[in-house]
Amino acid sequence: MIYADNAATTKIDQEVLDSMLNYLKGDYGNSSSPHLFGRKAKEALLKARETIAKIINCAPNEIFFTSGGSESITQAILSAASWGENHNKKHIISSSIEHPAVLNTLLSLEENGFKIDLVKPNNRGIVDYKKIESLINNDTALVSIMYANNEIGTIQPIQEIGCICRKKGVLFHSDCVQAISHLDIDVNRDNLDMISFSAHKFHGPKGIGILYCKKTFALTPLIYGGAQERGKRGGTENIASIVAMAKALEIQSNNLIENELKIKRIRDFLENKLLTIEDSHINGDRQSRLSSIINIRFDKVEAETLLLLLDKKNIYVSTGSACSSGSIEPSHVLMNLDLSKEEANCSIRISLSKYNSDEEVATIFSEIKEIVNYIRSFN
Ligand code: PLP
Repeated sequence: MIYADNAATTKIDQEVLDSMLNYLKGDYGNSSSPHLFGRKAKEALLKARETIAKIINCAPNEIFFTSGGSESITQAILSAASWGENHNKKHIISSSIEHPAVLNTLLSLEENGFKIDLVKPNNRGIVDYKKIESLINNDTALVSIMYANNEIGTIQPIQEIGCICRKKGVLFHSDCVQAISHLDIDVNRDNLDMISFSAHKFHGPKGIGILYCKKTFALTPLIYGGAQERGKRGGTENIASIVAMAKALEIQSNNLIENELKIKRIRDFLENKLLTIEDSHINGDRQSRLSSIINIRFDKVEAETLLLLLDKKNIYVSTGSACSSGSIEPSHVLMNLDLSKEEANCSIRISLSKYNSDEEVATIFSEIKEIVNYIRSFN
C-alpha cells in the first residue's frame, strides 16, 4: 500500500500513540477533579498547553483545545462576528479558495445580514494582499485567510495581510490546518490574532485541535458547559489526545527542516517525472507552495477513473478536497484558478509526508504513467 493522501489525514507517529496510551489506560483522571489522579491530568494538560504555546510563540492561556480544525474555525469566525455585531461592524473579508469550514460559516453569517467579500486569487492560487487592503473599511470586523491551501498547497502572503490588519485595527484569523504540518508558524511574527489547526494533519490523532486566540480578544463559546478552557469551550478535556497533539507538534517542530528537505526532494522528483507524461500540467503556483502537495492534471484523463485504477493498485491519492469527494461538482479551488470544468475534473492531488520513500514515489510515477496511457488508449 502506498499512502499519498496526507493532506486528507496522516498516519499517527508511534511515539505519539505511546504518549496517548497512559492517559487512556493509566492516568485517566479528569483534570477538574481535586484528587491526585485529577491533578495528574491537569498537570499533563498544562504541560501540553505550554509545549504548543512555545512552538507557535504565544502565551499558554491563549491556547484553546477543540475537536479539530472545523470547530476552531467556526468558533474563531463566529466570535469575531459576534464582536462585530456589538460594534456595528458586519463586514468580513476572506478568499474564494478557503476550506468549506470557513466558507460555510461565512455563508451562515451572510444569511444573517453580514456582508462577505471573498477575494479571488490569481490563476496560480495566490491571494493579492493589496486587494484585501482595498476592501477593508470601517464596517470590517474580520479578515480570514488560509495560510496554505489544502488542494493546491499555495501559501498566502500572511505576514503582509497581518501587517495590514494590525495597521487598520481589524481582527485577523488564519486557517493553518495544512500549513502547521510544514511551516514554522509564529503568531507574533505573522500578526495573527487567531489561528486554527488540527492534530491529524501532523501525525497526531483525529478529533483534537487548537484555536489560538490573542488574550486581548474574548472568544464566544460554541459549547457551553463547565469552566474548562477558561469558560470558552465546555466539556471534559480529552487529555490523551491533547497530550498526543502536543507530542506530535513537538516532533514536527523539532524535525521540521530535515523532514521538509526530504518531502520536497521526493515531491520534486515525482513532479518532474509526472511532467514528462504528455499533456500534463501543474495546478497552482510552483514557488509559494507547501513542500508536500502536487496538484496535476492529465488532459483527457478523468481524475475519478485514474483514482479508481490507482486504488486497485493500492495507491491512495485524491481528487482535491476529501470533504467534497463523492460530489461530481468540480473543486471550487480549481474553478477559482480559471480552469475549465473538464480541466478541474482531470486533476488529482498527491500529498506526501515524511513516511513516503523514494521507492514509493518512483512506483507512483510508473503506475500513473501506465494508467494514463491506458485510459488515453480508449479516447
Ligand atoms: N481547513 C483545511 C485547510 C483543511 O484541510 C481541513 C481538513 O481537511 C480543515 C480545515 C478541517 O479540519 P478538521 O478535519 O480537523 O475539522
